This record gives sequence, C-alpha cells and structure tokens, in this order.
Amino acid sequence: MAFEFEAIASLVKCPGCGATLIPAENALICANPEHRFSFPILDGIPLLLAEEAQELSTEEWTAMTSSSTHQQD
Ligand SMILES: [Zn+2]
Repeated sequence: MAFEFEAIASLVKCPGCGATLIPAENALICANPEHRFSFPILDGIPLLLAEEAQELSTEEWTAMTSSSTHQQD
C-alpha cells in the first residue's frame, strides 16, 4: 500500500524544530539545515519521533534534500 508522502509532507512538521519535512527515500528529512534530522519510514509509516531520528551530516542532508522525489515528471 503506497503512502502519499508528498500529500502529508506539507502538513507535518519536524517535531524537533518545527521545520517542513522533505520526503526522501524511506525517510522524511527536516528542511532546517541546522537541524538535519532524518525520520525513518517503516512499513509506510513515518516515525516522527526524536528518539527514532538520525541526524544527517551536512553532505548527506544536502544530497537527500536536493534529490528528493520531485524528479518524476
Ligand atoms: Zn528539524
């Protein structure tokens, strides 16, 4: 069952800093370059919990936020 990440991405906020979340592969990425948390998506369910989040390096964050799912036109 597909989960419409993009549909909900504009509705949910990073629980850590309140920034927008960017849908990526198997994760939702905090759009705040100072925060860079990656929240895992397990079995189609985004785990928006600080305990489950992984802080990305600046390089990882840049790569994941610039190559998100917006290239499927
Ligand atoms: Zn954040």
